[in-house]
Amino acid sequence: MALSKEPATRWAWVEIDQGALRRNVRAFKNLLAPGQRLCCVVKADAYGHGAPQCAKIMQAAGADMFAVATLDEGIQLRQSGVKIPILMLSEPPASSVDLLLQYDIMPSLYTAEFALAYGERAVELGVVGRYHMAIETGMNRIGVHYADVLEFRRSIDFHRGIECDGVFTHFATADDPDSWEYSLQRRRFREAVQAMKDADCECGIVHCDNTPASILDPATHFDMIRAGIGLYGLQPCERTAPIFPLDPVMSVRARITRVTHPAMGEGVGYGFTFRVPRANVQICTLPIGYADGLARVLSNRMEVLYKGRRLRQVGNICMDQCMVAIQQMTAQPVEDAEIGELVTIVGRDGDAVITMDEMAALRGTINYEVACGFGMRLKKVYL
Ligand SMILES: *Cc1c(COP(=O)(O)O)cnc(C)c1O
Repeated sequence: MALSKEPATRWAWVEIDQGALRRNVRAFKNLLAPGQRLCCVVKADAYGHGAPQCAKIMQAAGADMFAVATLDEGIQLRQSGVKIPILMLSEPPASSVDLLLQYDIMPSLYTAEFALAYGERAVELGVVGRYHMAIETGMNRIGVHYADVLEFRRSIDFHRGIECDGVFTHFATADDPDSWEYSLQRRRFREAVQAMKDADCECGIVHCDNTPASILDPATHFDMIRAGIGLYGLQPCERTAPIFPLDPVMSVRARITRVTHPAMGEGVGYGFTFRVPRANVQICTLPIGYADGLARVLSNRMEVLYKGRRLRQVGNICMDQCMVAIQQMTAQPVEDAEIGELVTIVGRDGDAVITMDEMAALRGTINYEVACGFGMRLKKVYL
């Protein structure tokens, strides 16, 4: 039976459980002491979950700030009505300063060239450009080197067009907070912040924790945590799962568009990588493919859920479609599947479940990438 909210145009879609999202946001809020803030990371369209809609729910559940990866993502949030601070997690090209100021999106900042371009334009417009200073503490991705923070601040702080709203770093190994590498980054960050405070440089909001660090190392919450993956109910690593339960937010569903009974030996899909092994095999077509995030490397390896049990996906996954097989394993004849019946690609069906983690393991990647992929073309339905 079709859900009333299902997209009318396509028998494949993503379901977003708004209640689960709300509960996950509250779980992170509950980790915090009074006065500490929650920055909800909604980059990449909220990890594929739909940023404008998720931002509304997150804000109602207690988000204090949003973080995005690109200026366009920030503008989309502002255009959807977000009024709370928005932080961009890297430094954009200097050519974007007008839009940053126009939409009140705080850039991360770590070069003097950008800082001065940003400040000049702010002065011209009669406003102050707020920013967060990124500090490089060991990941070797972005930021001012931890040993150079004072020198850097001295080279830009004279400018009346800019104001430091926060300072932050990012951990490379937060999934293992007992490691030497993690404690080194933590120490470098603490020392850099202390050096700025001792020199009376405004630091604003001090923050460094992503999801795993927020859960595993509460001592580094400082003034704010930046949670991403956990908000969507996905665990960043094995260590967090037993101590911080979360509710998965995204499910992926499709409906069967065709059912056939090819003869034994016939091939299925491009290149015939699957051949029908016996009589009485039903091949069902699903209107979802690798352009929807169902990576082609999963071909002939993944399973889907149908009527509470697992079916094998067979043949190469196409760009927009794939096939699954219903094989008769017992003497009892299996009823024919019908066009329009529901299949679960990720999520729960009765007692059976297929997780993002299962799919990530099959693909040799992490749940982050799997969720982002499903968000790219499939319509999202908010339940
Ligand atoms: C993506 C990102 C986060 C969020 O990380 P999660 O592991 O998803 O919680 C936090 N901070 C920065 C700088 C990021 O790039």
